[in-house]
Amino acid sequence: MKILTEPYKIKMVESIRLLSKEAREKALREAGYNTFLLMSQDVYIDLLTDSGTNAMSDSQWAWMMMGDEAYAGSRSYYHLLDAVQQVYGYPFMVPTHQGRGAEHILSKCLIKPGDFVPGNMYFTTTRLHQELEGGTFVDVSMDGAHDPRNESLFKGNVDMKKLENLTKKVSIDRIPYITIGAPVNMAGGQPVSMQNLRQVSEFCRKRRIRVVLDAARAVENAYFIQEREPGYASKSVREILREMCSWMDICTMSAKKDAFANIGGFLAMHDEGLYEEAKNFCVVYEGLHTYGGLAGRDLEALAQGIRESVERDDWVAHRISQVRYLWQNLKDMGIPLVHPCGGHAVFIDAKAFLSHLPQEQLPAQTLAAQIYADSGVRSMERGIVSAGRDLQSGEEHRPSLELVRLAIPRRVYTQTHLDYVAEGIEKTFRRREEIPGLRFVYEPKYLRFFQARFELQKKEVGATVE
Ligand SMILES: *Cc1c(COP(=O)(O)O)cnc(C)c1O
Repeated sequence: MKILTEPYKIKMVESIRLLSKEAREKALREAGYNTFLLMSQDVYIDLLTDSGTNAMSDSQWAWMMMGDEAYAGSRSYYHLLDAVQQVYGYPFMVPTHQGRGAEHILSKCLIKPGDFVPGNMYFTTTRLHQELEGGTFVDVSMDGAHDPRNESLFKGNVDMKKLENLTKKVSIDRIPYITIGAPVNMAGGQPVSMQNLRQVSEFCRKRRIRVVLDAARAVENAYFIQEREPGYASKSVREILREMCSWMDICTMSAKKDAFANIGGFLAMHDEGLYEEAKNFCVVYEGLHTYGGLAGRDLEALAQGIRESVERDDWVAHRISQVRYLWQNLKDMGIPLVHPCGGHAVFIDAKAFLSHLPQEQLPAQTLAAQIYADSGVRSMERGIVSAGRDLQSGEEHRPSLELVRLAIPRRVYTQTHLDYVAEGIEKTFRRREEIPGLRFVYEPKYLRFFQARFELQKKEVGATVE
């Protein structure tokens, strides 16, 4: 398999270097075995996230010079509004500093204590904002999404039975909205079909439950629909994205993903009443409703990024072919992965990779740390550490998936970089049996995965492995 030929050429470069093994091990110890706490200068290939780490285009940089930095009524805001209306199809929009800013405002507007908010698998920041308003997240993703071996092509789909059961168990007016992540990040970047979006929308509209699209990577979802769903092969990604949004009442957006921006997001909707309320909260938490915590130049970079993300299908096609290339290489090496390959990242099944470690010894956290030690490649944990604790009971959430995510920033790395990554992970795989687990030494209260610190489990009583 080959990566599609790049639909761009390189105009600016940034140097990177590989530290010695000793220096990497020291850096890892100092970071408490948490890849989020490594200094980026100590990382060779950074696959921690595809969020805000994309390469902007010359057009985006040019538009940044055109930023209107007025406090109120900035021209740049109207450029962004126009892009959101054209590409996503929502008439109303408030900008936010990033995706969680939009989630915060939305949760404030719509959730009352005691409410239930269904969704197709949790996302860290989304669920936390729901819980902070007194809501309870309810997972209505299909069972297959929790099984790394399940080969369904639309593994992000909502299980309509689970959704229906919730509406029978609790009163409908306790369900302000449902969030649909398309694709589902935590399940391995798995897409949702148009048919499923339509079903959810029709089901919810009858019951006056609002439907919210988490649009961070909706362009990628549209590409999967084009590729896999009957009737969409001859439609452009742009048209498919518009249709997806037409089924959804509201959209929260982290523009740091699909839109190639380094920062930014928005909350968009069809309902003018909700827009009025969102503007109010925007002023409190983000900034005036025409800048939402962003500089005028950021608004321009974002507006151009949104237009660019759907201007030609080969942007997203190339990106997904890069992800598939790495996935296929790792699979050929026998490394256990989440199947099928998702949109933005390759997910390693850490439970199978480090099968000698029980979940208490944090297999995914351990694997992310060891991959860095072996090759200077930075990835992140998506397992029990990310899942955190229930805010009310303090109990740990115990996800069935223990994954390490290798997220590929857009337009940043080449095929040779990806070859290096695969060879590095193979090195770790060969010595997997001797890898000791980790345990917490510091656990923050919220979103613990970002700042937690760990130490190596002792192999035998009294003997630390280092
Ligand atoms: C990144 C992300 C968010 C949160 O956005 P931030 O810009 O990081 O605040 C929400 N949902 C999904 C699916 C994401 O990937």
